[in-house]
Amino acid sequence: GLVAGRETEEDGLEFGKSDFVLLDEVSMEQFMENLKLRFEKGRIYTYIGEVVVSVNPYRQMDMYGKDSIEAYRGRELYENPPHLYAVSDAAYKAMKRRAKDTCIVISGESGAGKTEASKYIMQYIAAITNPSQRAEVESVKNVLLKSNCVLEAFGNAKTNRNDNSSRFGKYMDINFNFNGDPTGGHINNYLLEKSRVVQQQEGERNFHSFYQLLRGSSDEILESLHLQNDPALYACTKEGATSNNDRSSHRAVMNALQVIGFSKEEINSIYQILASILLLGNVQFESDGESVQILQLEAVNHISDLTATDPESISKSLLYRTVATGGGEVIEKGHTEQDACFGRDAFALYERLFGWIVGRINSVIEVKNYNPVLHGKNTVIGVLDIYGFEIFDNNSFEQFCINYCNEKLQQLFIELILRQEQDEYQREGITWQEIDYFNNQIIVDLVEQPHKGIISILDEACLTAGKVTDMVCLDSMDTKLAQHPHYTSRKLCPTDKTMDFKKHFRIRHYAGDVTYSVEGFLDKNKDLLFQDFKRLMYNRFSSSPFLKEMWPDGQLSITEVTKRPLTAATLFKNSIVALVDKLACKEPYYVRCIKPNEMKSPVLFDDARCQHQVAYLGLLENVMVRRAGFAYRQPYARFLQRYKMTCEYTWPNHLMASDREAVEAIITQHGFQDDVAYGQTKLFVRTPRSLFTLEQERAALI
Ligand code: ADP
Ligand code: MG
Repeated sequence: GLVAGRETEEDGLEFGKSDFVLLDEVSMEQFMENLKLRFEKGRIYTYIGEVVVSVNPYRQMDMYGKDSIEAYRGRELYENPPHLYAVSDAAYKAMKRRAKDTCIVISGESGAGKTEASKYIMQYIAAITNPSQRAEVESVKNVLLKSNCVLEAFGNAKTNRNDNSSRFGKYMDINFNFNGDPTGGHINNYLLEKSRVVQQQEGERNFHSFYQLLRGSSDEILESLHLQNDPALYACTKEGATSNNDRSSHRAVMNALQVIGFSKEEINSIYQILASILLLGNVQFESDGESVQILQLEAVNHISDLTATDPESISKSLLYRTVATGGGEVIEKGHTEQDACFGRDAFALYERLFGWIVGRINSVIEVKNYNPVLHGKNTVIGVLDIYGFEIFDNNSFEQFCINYCNEKLQQLFIELILRQEQDEYQREGITWQEIDYFNNQIIVDLVEQPHKGIISILDEACLTAGKVTDMVCLDSMDTKLAQHPHYTSRKLCPTDKTMDFKKHFRIRHYAGDVTYSVEGFLDKNKDLLFQDFKRLMYNRFSSSPFLKEMWPDGQLSITEVTKRPLTAATLFKNSIVALVDKLACKEPYYVRCIKPNEMKSPVLFDDARCQHQVAYLGLLENVMVRRAGFAYRQPYARFLQRYKMTCEYTWPNHLMASDREAVEAIITQHGFQDDVAYGQTKLFVRTPRSLFTLEQERAALI
């Protein structure tokens, strides 16, 4: 296995370069050649300095076991072959030794391996902490690890790109005490793709949780939930075939829920809500021209039983909406058949359930009674696993939000990588040359700028009274953004054959052009959820305490809800801005994931697809920055401690005036002068070659 030894220079020829900084020349050609060679040799990780580039192997790799963990534990990056474990350890060391908050940002497109990477990182951190096996710490670790299983069941689904695709963004903070042991954590979730509950594209599935419930529950339980064990019977689940693991996953999820600390009643409630959603999905309406009726009254009765609400109230909130007239009078207005369907589909039970589950997990892992005076600084490692850039055949509001999020993260990458380098060189008094980047700030502005950006224009359209359609909104964007170099629409370029329909606009993202269909943008942005449902769930008709917790906004009476809620896009923007702020104040470590092919094949390296990803992730520029600068750096004392035996003037002790001079002696004796620079407190090394040589000499001597 990989553990047997580090990749030495000789290995280097066989497996390619373990760090792209070592390429003979920085060109796309050489980069791709090295990436491909390493993939074919089963070397799925390669560095760019401290950044890990990972290619999804699509097969089980023998490199995540206990012996691997031991090999990486406490070691420096260059001492072992590239691995997620090495960066995890680097982040952990920074946190523990220097009391730095750190974060590991995992990016890449759907199916590139982000979520798997985040799990290996968590497992590594869990494995190397709490050597004394203290019970409180073990239980925190257990909850952190088990939370993945629950979040995946409720937040992941099979898509055409990935059988286990995360349909939400996840940022998890792990808190550590002064011993470096986990004391708790917090999960933030971003924009669950809730439209999947009511509709899935061909070949895709709803969230795993539904199939797990139907396939994994006993007949007794299903009966109590008024369900049958065939997903084909429900509108929500009839599209996706079941997978073989639904049954075993269900057991695992039930176990995880219990380990985390969900009570029996809470677990029952979760499954009652899932059942209600399945039954509600089957409710249809019929209009006789005058009024609208519910066709499946039995389903309504079952839902009423499951949600502890009365059936009349449910029917009423499905068929009517309560509105306040201008004069403050409250009236009931009957839905059209179309409104009723819209209302049923917008009844965001699943989204609330998901949010509630995350909140419940947080309440368990939240750090309690931490006293910094007694316990020292509470430090954090954050792990971000968020949806990558998406280009589908039909791109809608969700893709717009997701791609905006990726622009923001790319912006952060540029800012941090450059800023970090620059800051350190300045501090240490080292001169270096700046590298030109494509700065995507201009695209970020296109989306988020107040008054002028796309989100503002959308919000304005949503706030305008009367019938503003998606098309009116598109007109407004076309007028205001006509001059923007990253925006086009069919109307602005009528000859552009690649945009077939008038309702499309295109953004030139840093990762490529995406054509969005404006259809549905306004509805999705308004995210209209009839207040009647919120009240139904919250108020006295519901005797379920859990439902009340999920619908706090149902407290408001009809006359109180005059204030417009923030739109979906604005809420999302705010959450991403907050996320970026959180990341920006931490020391970042990056994992850049690449998807080798579209067939989930372990042997296929699709050159064009891979090159495209390398290009938009800015990996080549990343290499240039590292090369222009110094990839490796170490405080003088530490360097000396490690390599003093390789030089006669420093072994066993040196007689020089400072550690720095002693380090100079080592470097000069080996002839590495041209590969290093001397900073105030650290030695800067351009390539790892010198370090490898020193490491080998050291290994031969001890
Ligand atoms: P993403 O989160 O980027 O959409 P995933 O992490 O879900 O992608 O990975 C998609 C699939 O690829 C996984 O279900 C798994 O089958 C495979 N995969 C990803 N990373 C690895 C890995 N390190 N080893 C083995 N298989 C992997
Ligand atoms: Mg994922």
